[in-house]
Amino acid sequence: MKRSTYFVPTLRETPAEAQIVSHRLMLRAGMINQLAAGIYNWLPLGVRVLEKIQKIVCDEHDKDGCSRILMPTLQPVELWQESGRYEAYGKELLRMEDRHERGLIYGPTAEEVVTDIFRKYVKSYKELPQVMYQIQWKFRDEIRPRFGVMRGREFLMKDAYSFDIDKKAAYKTYEKMFRIYMRIFNRMGLKVIPIRADSGAIGGDLSHEFQVVAETGESQLYYDAQFEQADHANMNLEQIQSLYAVADDMHNPEDCPVENVKTSRGIEVGHIFYFGKKYSIPMNTTVINQDNKPVNIEGGSYGIGISRVMAALIEANHDDGGIIWPEEVAPFQVGLINCKAGDEQAEQICDDLYEKLMTAGCEVLYDDRKERAGAKFADMDLIGIPTQIIVGKKTLTEGVVELKNRQTGERLDLTLDSALNRIVA
Ligand code: ATP
Ligand code: MG
Repeated sequence: MKRSTYFVPTLRETPAEAQIVSHRLMLRAGMINQLAAGIYNWLPLGVRVLEKIQKIVCDEHDKDGCSRILMPTLQPVELWQESGRYEAYGKELLRMEDRHERGLIYGPTAEEVVTDIFRKYVKSYKELPQVMYQIQWKFRDEIRPRFGVMRGREFLMKDAYSFDIDKKAAYKTYEKMFRIYMRIFNRMGLKVIPIRADSGAIGGDLSHEFQVVAETGESQLYYDAQFEQADHANMNLEQIQSLYAVADDMHNPEDCPVENVKTSRGIEVGHIFYFGKKYSIPMNTTVINQDNKPVNIEGGSYGIGISRVMAALIEANHDDGGIIWPEEVAPFQVGLINCKAGDEQAEQICDDLYEKLMTAGCEVLYDDRKERAGAKFADMDLIGIPTQIIVGKKTLTEGVVELKNRQTGERLDLTLDSALNRIVA
């Protein structure tokens, strides 16, 4: 993309309304902008990062046999009346009526809809296990939306739902989903602590929250110091449950089973639940078991806050200059800066580099604007693209470009060809 025509409205000043660094940097880097309380427009750079996060999430689900679907944002109230949640959910549920006075809600989650899909089609234990998932916008009428997209009212969520024949099989699926989650966060370069969570009143006794360690997090975590070294992505459920990590509501210093307890703040980026027959009983969802008898299926649900993950990534990866994107989620891989805009030869060299990088399959943001070099450097650091190529005076006199690593700050002078080779490799 050429910066001169691509819409990246960066801001010099720090917006007064932003209290935490991720919100500030998302506004300043021109990724989002607020339309109404807790409701945001997503601008091009924000959309690109959302897509990168979604790609990793989908990849890891698809690899393990989950089926991607897409359910509507609007849901009929009848399903919520059937499950009993229409009354129970409270004021966070946004309710409305259509012109025929039929009740609708904007989905805050989709257990009812997916259970309805399942019961229309699946009749036998032979078709189990099933995990269906989607990535869709959710709405929760949060009383105090804040911190930008960290706690929005409208937000993007990946929600998966599992269907199993019995509790044992459901636990197996839970274990699989736990591992998928750890792989997802590892791929994003996010350090995540999976904590034991309260799974709520009905049926469930198994639930974990995935917390990103960050000072600005809303949860207080307590965990075994050994926890950070554990290879969670390869553990079985028994091992997972033997580890000590909880939020403050479940921590009691008097009878804590581990000696070396660490504490930190955390941002909840994911949450998985086993809830058994919570929906299959009221919604009468059965399949035939091996003895040819109808049994209620055992369910679980598994959420990741895609848009919140983006904010958490920034909380975990930034410096005074701006965002430092991990490679896998960066909006572009390479930022190309022309320090000598207006110079015909420099422009020729940049255009040529840009074409070659694009041909090699690189995602490049080319700052071709007629701006001061200083402003371009500051903007490129703010946006946080991992690798920068800087074309300047030395390029014209000695044929070298500067390659800058955004994370380490390391700078290298390289010939045009070796710079290209290095990036493409
Ligand atoms: P919280 O405790 O932060 O309000 P929750 O426990 O109500 O979240 P879940 O129902 O577990 O949320 O939803 C799954 C995931 O969706 C959460 O782990 C979180 O990452 C994300 N999420 C929930 N509410 C919001 C929100 N208001 N804005 C952005 N993301 C959210
Ligand atoms: Mg939760």
